[in-house]
Amino acid sequence: MKALVFHHQLAREAAAKIGGTIDRRSFVARFAPVSLDDIDEPQISGPGWVLCETVVSGFCGSDAKQILLNGSRDNPLTALLSFPHVLGHEAVGRRTDNGQRVVLNPWLSCAPRGIDPPCPACQMGRYPWCRNFTGGVIPPALHIGNCAGAAGAHAERFAAHEGQLFGVPDDVPDEVAVLADPVSVSLRTILLHPPEPGLPVLVYGSGTLAFAAVALVRHLYPDIEVWAVTRSGPRAAMAERMGAHAVLPSDPDALVAAVADRMGVRTLVPWSGREWLQDGPSVVYDTIGSIETVETSLRLLNTGGTLVVSGVEPPGRFEWTPLYFKELRVIGSNAFGIEEVRGVRKHAFEHYFDWVAEGLDLSPLVTHRFRLSEWDRALLTASQASKTGAIKVVLRP
Ligand SMILES: [Zn+2]
Ligand SMILES: [Zn+2]
Repeated sequence: MKALVFHHQLAREAAAKIGGTIDRRSFVARFAPVSLDDIDEPQISGPGWVLCETVVSGFCGSDAKQILLNGSRDNPLTALLSFPHVLGHEAVGRRTDNGQRVVLNPWLSCAPRGIDPPCPACQMGRYPWCRNFTGGVIPPALHIGNCAGAAGAHAERFAAHEGQLFGVPDDVPDEVAVLADPVSVSLRTILLHPPEPGLPVLVYGSGTLAFAAVALVRHLYPDIEVWAVTRSGPRAAMAERMGAHAVLPSDPDALVAAVADRMGVRTLVPWSGREWLQDGPSVVYDTIGSIETVETSLRLLNTGGTLVVSGVEPPGRFEWTPLYFKELRVIGSNAFGIEEVRGVRKHAFEHYFDWVAEGLDLSPLVTHRFRLSEWDRALLTASQASKTGAIKVVLRP
């Protein structure tokens, strides 16, 4: 079958990286680490594993980062990957055993690995905290899409453990279902520190995670004011369409000034000229996670406020004095599992389908569609979002 394979070979990565500094197309050229290959059918790794026909797969920001080699060699998560692997972890498929249309929870935690009893994290339904990502019947990996033994969904078919497959209600279109993964990431981000009554929240970012966070806050906390920080133009329009009360500029100084203005407070002016606030949003949901967004969030947060970071950019130095001075909390946010919302505990995907039935509509976030064979165009479209307007790009085999 055809599948988009990432080969971890230094020569390929070096060639793509050198070429890529001149032309992004080097990352999709024949010698690049990623190629559309003809490979064997997906492995059925153990009892409970099911073969699925891919219906549609979502192109994730992390796929693009990996193909563009935009990570750092010292990333600790390299301990939990195996190569070569088929990319793709956001997927809607059709089970070949019973024909059911399903959405994939990609996490390769205890159950898919055949580990019984499961670790305490899996028993709680916190699959991304699983302690067995290197154990069991499949090679080391966090999730389908970075595992040498469990092919990802940018392929004609993929296999998964039945516990990873959630039935999609008949009236939910494929492209709404495929958003279950990123929407659930943002749900978790919000649940880690929900909005506080009477204070605004700020959402940083211009991608699926950011727009989903805006829409979820509006859906779950209708009394809360939501400010989006995103580029002007179509991105700002999308933030408003998803329910943002205001779209604020992404330039750090202009952003701090805009927040001060809306809060009706004066800024404090240090020697550096980088103004900051003691009164601001109670929480920032940062879907970018760059040194600029983290530093700026610390400047504008309310005293005692919380920054929840779901994005990951390469590390660097930033000014973190407000962290101690305002007794801020910084929380990392990683994926999803069984989540409690309004007193109900169930998998994030099941919550999402409930809210779709209540009218939550994120379908405008799917902006581009390609065939799997056009994966190179999909990548260039997704990675040049400011030019193409891409938010969620999807592939069909
Ligand atoms: Zn993803
Ligand atoms: Zn586990």
